[in-house]
Amino acid sequence: MFDDRRSKKVLLIAHCILNQNAKIDCCAHYPGAIKEVTQILIDADVGILQMPCPELLCLGLDRQVETGIHTTVESEDSRVARRMAEDQAKALCRKLVSDLVYQVEEYQRNGFQLVGVVGINGSPTCGVETTWSNNQEEQGSGVFIKMLNEECRMRNISFLMRGIKAYEPEQAIVVVVDLLENAIY
Ligand code: SF4
Repeated sequence: MFDDRRSKKVLLIAHCILNQNAKIDCCAHYPGAIKEVTQILIDADVGILQMPCPELLCLGLDRQVETGIHTTVESEDSRVARRMAEDQAKALCRKLVSDLVYQVEEYQRNGFQLVGVVGINGSPTCGVETTWSNNQEEQGSGVFIKMLNEECRMRNISFLMRGIKAYEPEQAIVVVVDLLENAIY
């Protein structure tokens, strides 16, 4: 079955790697996709599973920004971090994780290879090695990636997870190439 042209390799990536339009205001670094990273993934012939953007789905595109007050990217990231830690947001993240894990298990059950996950470091939601709280970047994972990691561990699904930053494309390329080369097949 599935003996056709597909590579049977699938990589999960944060939504905004392919669609910077989903980013919080003032944080898009490309008109559309993060070009350099996307090109590498296309050339690698992996299936690109674009994860949903939890912040957009929980808070909307404007992240329910409070109008009439002075904000900065840092203060907005901190506010979004607080909102994403609320019960309602966490419940939605859990549902998104559940849908993703279902897909992952379907691929694995059918003999596909899970290449890994690429998140966005510094994000309160999709950070892998670093996240955001108290007005600064901190060690640790964002709320969504943390849940995804925990759920996968519980189900004995193992794969590499790496974070990149859109404004550091050269470093992002190194990280993604390394992940593609070192994936647990
Ligand atoms: S990092 Fe995650 S939550 Fe933030 S814009 Fe990208 S996909 Fe959405």
